[in-house]
Amino acid sequence: MTSRNKCTKSGSIVCEMMSNEEISGAKVVYSVAPALGHNMEQHPESSLRVPAIVTTLEKMHLTPKFRGSEIIQLQNFRTATVEDIASVHSRSYVSNLEKAMEWASEEGVVSINSSGDTYATATTFEESLIAAGAGLSVVDSVVEASKVSKKPPVGFALIRPPGHHAIAEGPLGFCIFGNVAVAARYAQRVHGLKRVFIIDFDVHHGNGTNDVFYDDPDIFFLSTHQDGSFPGTGKIDDIGCGSGEGATLNLPLPEGTGDIGMRTIFDQVIAPSAQRFKPDIILVSAGYDAHVLDPLAYFQFTTGTYYMLASSIKQLANDLCGGRCVFFLEGGYNLKSLSNSVAETFRAFIDEPSIAAELDDDLGCLYDEPSTKVKEAIQKVKHLHYL
Ligand SMILES: [Zn+2]
Repeated sequence: MTSRNKCTKSGSIVCEMMSNEEISGAKVVYSVAPALGHNMEQHPESSLRVPAIVTTLEKMHLTPKFRGSEIIQLQNFRTATVEDIASVHSRSYVSNLEKAMEWASEEGVVSINSSGDTYATATTFEESLIAAGAGLSVVDSVVEASKVSKKPPVGFALIRPPGHHAIAEGPLGFCIFGNVAVAARYAQRVHGLKRVFIIDFDVHHGNGTNDVFYDDPDIFFLSTHQDGSFPGTGKIDDIGCGSGEGATLNLPLPEGTGDIGMRTIFDQVIAPSAQRFKPDIILVSAGYDAHVLDPLAYFQFTTGTYYMLASSIKQLANDLCGGRCVFFLEGGYNLKSLSNSVAETFRAFIDEPSIAAELDDDLGCLYDEPSTKVKEAIQKVKHLHYL
C-alpha cells in the first residue's frame, strides 16, 4: 500500500492509502525529496533545483492535481536505513558523515571532500537518507504494480543530493550517497530482481556506480559522458573485471555530441546491450546536464533528446522487463532546461506528444555535431562489446 493525493476543498493536498492495483493503472509514479536544508550559496547543486522542476510540472499540468490517477506522487515514502546505504558505502563513511553534522551545524556549510566541490550542511545526512529512501519507495511501487499489470507506471525519484559520483568510501562531485547503486542492491535483496541494467546519461561519468559494480556480472552499468569531463574516468576500455567483464560499458563522447548522436547511440548501443543482458529492472541515472544550455559541460542535447530517451527507455523496459523502470535525478544545473527536460520526460511517460520544438525554439546556439568522432566512438564500443 502506498499513498495518493487528494485535493480538499481548501485546495491542499492530503494523502489516502492506495492499493497496488490503483498504482498499476498509473503511467508515472514519482517522489519528491528536495533537500531544502542542503544548500550552498552560489553552488550549482542548490536547493532551487527540485522546486524548479515541481513548479514547471505544475505549470505544465503534469501533476496529480491535473492528471487524476494517471500521475501519482508518493506522499509517504520511507527513509533509507544505514543498512540500505551500507550495501554500497562503507560504514565508516556513513558514521563519519553523521558525525560531521555537528561541525556543519556550527559552521553552516562545510566542504566534505578534498577537492572541495562537495559540501554539507547540518541537514545533509538526514536529507541524503531521505533522498535515497524516496528512490527505494518508488522502486517498491513500480515493482509491486508490475505484479498486477504488464504496463506498470514508470518511476521517477525527483531527489537530491545526487548520487552517481559518490564512491564507497566517501562523497564526490556534489554527490553524497549513490542513490541508484543503493536502489540496485535493494531491488536484488528485497524484490529478488537479480539482473539490473543501469543507464547513466548524465553528461559526467557515473564513476561511483561504475566502481561499485565493476566486477558484478548481474548489474550492467552503461554510461554515456563527455570525454575528459569530471571526474576524468570512464574510458572506453573500462569494461568491468573478473566475472563482471563486459557488464560495464563506458562510452566517452566528444564535446558537441547532441540529439543525432544520442539517437544513434540508443539504437546501436543502449538497446542491443539491454536486449542481450535481459534485465529484470532498468534503473536510470537521469542527468540533465547534457543539455546544450547547461553551464557545466559541453554536450548539445535538446529538450527533445530527453523526450526521446524517456520514451525509448520506457519502451525498452516494456519489451524486456515487464515495464519495471525507475529514473533517478542526477545533474542538471540550468533550472530552465532542467525543468523543461524533466517535464518532457513525464510527457513521454504518459504517451503525450512532445512539445520540445516549442520549448527549444531559442536554441540558436546549436552547431554541427562532431559526427565522425561520434561514429568512431560508437564503432569502437560496438567492437569491444561484440554488439
Ligand atoms: Zn553531471
